[in-house]
Amino acid sequence: MLQYQTLPVTPFQQNCSILWCDETKDAAIVDPGGDLPRLEAAVARLGVRLTQILLTHAHIDHAGGTAALAKARGLPIVGPHPGDQFWIDGLAEQSRMFGFPPAEAFVPTRWLADGDTVAVGRSVLAVRHCPGHTPGHVVFHSAEAKRAFVGDVLFAGSIGRTDFPGGDHATLIASITQRLWPMGDDTVFIPGHGPESSFGRERRSNPYVAGT
Ligand SMILES: [Zn+2]
Ligand SMILES: [Zn+2]
Repeated sequence: MLQYQTLPVTPFQQNCSILWCDETKDAAIVDPGGDLPRLEAAVARLGVRLTQILLTHAHIDHAGGTAALAKARGLPIVGPHPGDQFWIDGLAEQSRMFGFPPAEAFVPTRWLADGDTVAVGRSVLAVRHCPGHTPGHVVFHSAEAKRAFVGDVLFAGSIGRTDFPGGDHATLIASITQRLWPMGDDTVFIPGHGPESSFGRERRSNPYVAGT
């Protein structure tokens, strides 16, 4: 069964999650935006073996620590979708703009597309392409654990911003209603910022998508 622990990192309190298979102890880190020493300490404390980096999208608070961590630990970078290439290329500029430590661009070992799967030990996550916040945003879904790691697509009580280059409100709403809702009302999601919630709860009470 898939297990996970979430640690808010960077001044933006971005929810970086460490996922692991409790049978093999193989682990993946989703969106290592920064604060790498804290993430390394958490991995050591959990006693898991980090084997890959997964990315939902390439905004600085999600992807800023990727190149450094991949280099230091020899890890493959999986994701996001190629639509985020321009955000990856702009990481150095993003870090200057938001006052983050210098971040480097990188080349993903594997780009992701809608319908792909990613294995963490014996656990399998389904990949859904959910553009709107960024063009190449993906989410990772564990049907077995009824958990979805959704980055900045959906938050408890809110949705992702769409005023950045490549953002689009209607596309984001379509991603939420056509690709997240089918995962089921009882699926708990881990957003890129803030507390967890379930899709059922958001369908009832989130003012941006209630009743959709
Ligand atoms: Zn973002
Ligand atoms: Zn974010």
